[in-house]
Amino acid sequence: MRCPQCGTRDTRVINSRDLDDSATIRRRRECASCATRFTTYERVEAARLVVVKRDGTRQEFDRAKLASGLRKALTRRPVPDGAAEQAADQIEAELRAAGSSEVPSSRVGAMAMEQLRAIDHIAYIRFASVYQSFEDLEDLKREVDTLYAEKGNGGGRK
Ligand SMILES: [Zn+2]
Repeated sequence: MRCPQCGTRDTRVINSRDLDDSATIRRRRECASCATRFTTYERVEAARLVVVKRDGTRQEFDRAKLASGLRKALTRRPVPDGAAEQAADQIEAELRAAGSSEVPSSRVGAMAMEQLRAIDHIAYIRFASVYQSFEDLEDLKREVDTLYAEKGNGGGRK
């Protein structure tokens, strides 16, 4: 923290205390060079990311939970270690880059499916069958057919 008087970076905290809302900390500082005293306020950054479920309930975005869902879908599939974590990181980064503090759970689900689709088709179908809950077998068959068609056109990974 730079001294507002002389610009020296060497300042020390002489006391700190929480303000009433306790999301803010007030610090008294003293410049080591000119002994000027000044006050700084430190706030918790409000970079929350909330997932809104279909029934309207809200939940803090849980990267670990997302990764665990992806890991489950990727169980015993021939993919590199950490593929689920990487996908979860990617999803979180995209969500945060979008800059919105609230995101519908359906969006997170769609992004997860997008990631899995690129990683492993079986994992994708596993995940999709749970999270998208295909209406019926026809729906599921259509999705599988689409994947097959892509594979035939060299669209798949393997
Ligand atoms: Zn100073």
